[in-house]
This record gives sequence, structure tokens and C-alpha cells, in this order.
Amino acid sequence: ATYEVTASPVEGEDARGALVTLVDITEREQVGQIRRDFVANVSHELKTPLTALLGFIETLKGPARNDAPARDRFLTIMEREAERMNRLVRDLLSLSRVEAEERMRPEDRVDVAALVESSVLTLRPMAADAKVALTVSGASAPVWVRGDADQLVQVFTNLIENAIKYGGSGGRVEVMLETSARELAFRGPGVRIDVVDHGEGFDPVHIPRLTERFYRVDSHRSREMGGTGLGLAIVKHIVNRHRGRFRIESTPREGSRFSIMLPAS
Ligand code: ADP
Repeated sequence: ATYEVTASPVEGEDARGALVTLVDITEREQVGQIRRDFVANVSHELKTPLTALLGFIETLKGPARNDAPARDRFLTIMEREAERMNRLVRDLLSLSRVEAEERMRPEDRVDVAALVESSVLTLRPMAADAKVALTVSGASAPVWVRGDADQLVQVFTNLIENAIKYGGSGGRVEVMLETSARELAFRGPGVRIDVVDHGEGFDPVHIPRLTERFYRVDSHRSREMGGTGLGLAIVKHIVNRHRGRFRIESTPREGSRFSIMLPAS
């Protein structure tokens, strides 16, 4: 623990002394450390593509000026790096918005089944490109919850995108929705959404840290897939805001299951 110590002299009738106050500032120190780490991480994540861009700009101004094939190749890489920065800034903004709203209970009544369906529909082209069979079950009848529609769509798309990205080409991704009259987590009616893939999976030791910002099981792989490392942190905050539960299970080389439980209204 870390203490802040202050001392002030005390004078009594027949004694002199000092009043020493100890304040436990461990938590404050930890919050400060987390903030400093976050700023360092963001700076690093932005600096990497920026350095690459500046390097290519120099080359294009000099040696590659009259080399058309090289120019095209470099422009393609530059576009990819700029897109990476764009995604990072978009996810950072999203994260700060969901953090700010975490204490505000969502008021709207929304149909989760329709939101799951529409998330799946948006990601069909991505699945087709990755040769992944994307299936959805249990979402044909409406299921009502108090929620923020845009944020819930963000949760489902983040999880489905990950399942497609890490689920392996030629694989299968299943999105399943199930309602229960007594969801254990809330002792009341609830709905559970599972996103299951049969891809690379990971060692369960990573599970407790997976929702930390910028935590990745395999950094190289995440970057290669265009990941920002913020997706699951965003999911966690949104699920908290909805008083829901988020559960992760995985087996290396067999696949993963990401489950969201929400109280039904
Ligand atoms: P990223 O942008 O890197 O995908 P996320 O926050 O969405 O960031 O996920 C954090 C990490 O969790 C990923 O880098 C990856 O290592 C791991 N991960 C997430 N989803 C899956 C999955 N379906 N299969 C295997 N690993 C996954």
C-alpha cells in the first residue's frame, strides 16, 4: 500500500507532540498508473502507423518518385496504415462515449432479436469474403429488453467480427439467441446471446485480462487482422451499462464462445 503522510505540531498543557495522519492512497495511485499506461499505449498505437506513413512519404518524394509500380505498392500500404489510425480513433471515441454513459440506465425498449438479425446481416459480406458460414438461430420472434439499440448492435458486431477474424477461413460461426424465464444471473427473465466459433481459440489464462484495453492474446495476429485491441473493452462497458453479464470460454485450437446475458423487460 502507498500512504500519504502529513504531520502537524500539537501543543498541550504539559506535553508537546505531533499529529500524524496516514492516508491510504493506493487506489488513487493505481488509477493514476492505469491512466498513464493508457496514454502511453494510445501514443504507441498511433505512432506506429504514423512512422510508417512518414517513411513512405519520404520515399515517394525521393527514390520512388519515377517508379510507378513501387508508387502503387507504397500507396496501398499507406492506405492500410491510415485506415488503421482511423479505426483506432473511432474505437477510442466509442470507448470514451460508452464509459461516460455507463452510469445512465438505457430507457428504450428494444427488440434484441431484431438487433442480432441486423448485426448478422451487416456482417454477411465480411463472412463471405472470409469463406465463413455465418448462421443465426432463435432470433425469429421479438425479445424485449431495456437497452440502447446502437450500443447493443456494437456489442454483437464486435463479437461476430472477432469470431469471423479468429474463427479461421472455411469455418463456421454460430450466433444463438435463447430466452429463459429465470436466467440464473438475474433470478428473473433474461436473454442470452452466444457467439461461437471453431477457430484458433486461446488458453483460458487470458480470459480475465481480455476485456482490458489493448490486451491481445497475440499482438502480431491482431494487427494483421486490423484489430485495435479495444473491441472487448467496449463490449464490457456496454454490457455493464445494461446490467448484463459477459462470459468468455475458449479452448486452444477448438474455438471460443462469447456469451452475453441481458435482463429481459
Ligand atoms: P482486437 O481488435 O485485437 O480483435 P478485441 O478487444 O476485440 O481486440 O479482442 C482482444 C483479443 O482477444 C484479440 O486480440 C484476440 O487475441 C482475442 N480474441 C477475441 N475474440 C477472439 C476469438 N473469437 N477467437 C480467438 N481470439 C479472440
